[in-house]
Parts: sequence; structure tokens; C-alpha cells
Amino acid sequence: MVDEKGRLIYVSGERFRRDIVEGNCCFLCGNAPSGNEFTDEHIIPDWVLREFSLHERKVTLSNGATLPYSQDRVPCCTACNSLLGQSVEQPISQIIKEGYAAVIEFIQKETPWPLFAWMNLLFLKTHLKDRTLRYSLDARQGTEKIADFYDWSPMHHIHCIVRAYYTGAKLDPRLMGSVFILPTKNREWFERFDYADFSHHKTMMIRLGETAVVCVLDDACATYSLLKDWFAPKLGGALSPVQLREILARFAHANAAIRTRPEFHTTFEAGRPYISVTHPDQFETDPGDPLLLGKLMEHTCVPLVKGYLAKNEDEVIKGIRSGGWTFLITPDGKFDDRSMEPLSSNRNSGNQQSSPLSNTARRLG
Ligand SMILES: [Zn+2]
Repeated sequence: MVDEKGRLIYVSGERFRRDIVEGNCCFLCGNAPSGNEFTDEHIIPDWVLREFSLHERKVTLSNGATLPYSQDRVPCCTACNSLLGQSVEQPISQIIKEGYAAVIEFIQKETPWPLFAWMNLLFLKTHLKDRTLRYSLDARQGTEKIADFYDWSPMHHIHCIVRAYYTGAKLDPRLMGSVFILPTKNREWFERFDYADFSHHKTMMIRLGETAVVCVLDDACATYSLLKDWFAPKLGGALSPVQLREILARFAHANAAIRTRPEFHTTFEAGRPYISVTHPDQFETDPGDPLLLGKLMEHTCVPLVKGYLAKNEDEVIKGIRSGGWTFLITPDGKFDDRSMEPLSSNRNSGNQQSSPLSNTARRLG
């Protein structure tokens, strides 16, 4: 289905899989490389790499290998690459660079859609890249790519959201996922940038200076409803990197517990796609598996704090695995504002990177 400007306004699930996942067409317009000028699109956008001096820093890929951020890219046609730059990245970079308060103001006064669409774009690009990355770094163990293990059907909806500004699709407001905008703690002994996601649970987190966004893409806000009362008393200030990763794990865990899933579909109104959702009035949930939470937290939190854990490292990791530990609150139930601060009282020793940081994982009551 093509519009008056020749743009493909709908890519079916089958075509998404054939042309984009298994083929080499542009992930946005769907055009093939033959006869079109192609380039590479940065997965983490170039303005983020510049803002946080990441060009030469390395990203840890899903298979454990590392690659400079500047080389972490997916193919895209030149026209779409500049369109993404002007229509998506430029406005988002302006909002993010103004800081946490400006992001909140924009969301409240304008709309959360550009940010939500941008998160979908980052997630899609990250996982399209996995088509080229070997699952095992040891070729003797097989040459399958990471993406060979993905279920691409749910990714089709994410692809439709990413393309919405290009196709002019109308969006049902109820298909917005859970989006948390959170203030972050910044210290010279940890990075000002972080990105992590759980592909299977369609849950992701990006930390950009003083603002972090944690997002569930496919839950129609169910995770937000499930967790808001649990989180509210535990969020009492700027969050440390490990606290944000814990929130990412808890969102992924809650999303996994939703039994009655929203269903997304595209219909057409006056020649334009209309993307909508059907979901029950009340989401049914499973009680949640603490061991899954433990696994998610171990995967995302432990690498950040491992070097800093003191003598009780084994106990902390065991506690995290059990799913009953948190970095968010102190034993008296208050928000822990000492997370990832140096244990030493002399904060100006100039040696903070090597001094142990307060590891505040503790058993939940
Ligand atoms: Zn294109």
C-alpha cells in the first residue's frame, strides 16, 4: 500500500520479516539497496555519542563482545537517515539537552509520544543489529546469529510505531507503553550514559545525563498501573546507575507477569493507517516469579557493582538471585540516597574510582 508520495504506508508482518529482518531493505521506508543510496544509521544516535563523548567508548553487545559505539550501526537508506536526523533526533536532542525538568514539562504540557516513539526506534535498531552478531563468540559452538533466536512477531508492532511519523499513521492513545522519566545522580566515578534492555520482555532503559527513561513498549501501560504504588514511596531523589537498572529489571519482571496481553492491530481510515489496541478492562497477572526477578537483576545490576562489592559479595549476589533484594531503600524503608557513593568519608581523595562504593543491596523486609 503506497501513498500519493510513493511511500509504503503499511508493511505487513510477513513483509517485515522477509524484507527487513531476513532481507536487507531499509528498516524505515522498506526500499531495497539496489537503485537507492544507502548509509549506516547509528544505533545510539550521533548526538548522544557527541554529548557524552562516547564515539571511542565501547558498547557491550548482547553476545558479550564489545564494539566502539561509533561502529554500532545498522544499514538505512540515505534519505531515511536524514529524515530521522531532522524529524526525530533533532527535536528529541533539544528536549533531553535541556535537562530533567524540561523533559517532564514537555511530557506534561505537550505529549509523551515523540519520546515513546524514539524509545521504540532505539529498541528496534538494537535488535536489528543482532541479525549480524553471532550468538556464540566461539564458532565451534555454532554460527547462529543472536536474532535467529528472537520471536520477531511482537517486533512488528514496534516497527509500526517507529514508522508512524513516516507513514502519517494515526495512533490510538491507549497503545502507549509504560514510560517512567526519572532524575539521575551524576558523579565523576561513573558514566553519564547507560543503555540496557531485555529484548524478550520489551523493556528498556536509557540514562542521558540527568534524565533516565525506563519504558515497557508492549504493555499498554499495564506495568505502570501494577508498579506505581510499589515505586512511589521508594523513589525519593536522584537515582544511581544500579538503582535505575533495578527499576529496569522490575519493569521487565512485572511485564512478564501480565497474562492477558494487549493486542495491537492496524486498520485503515481514509487511506491512512490507524494503529490501535484491544485489551481487557482489567489486566490479569500472575503472582510473579522471584527467581526471574533475581535473574534479571543479576544480569543487569551485578556487572555495574561487582568491582565495588566488599567482603560480602557472595552474599549480595546470592541475595539478588533470590529476587528478594533491592538497591532502592534503606533498612528503615526510606529511599537510599547513598547508593554508589564512596564508603570513604573523604570524598575529595581523588581516588574515588578505586575506593569501594556503598553497595546498598539489602533484603526486602
Ligand atoms: Zn529508507
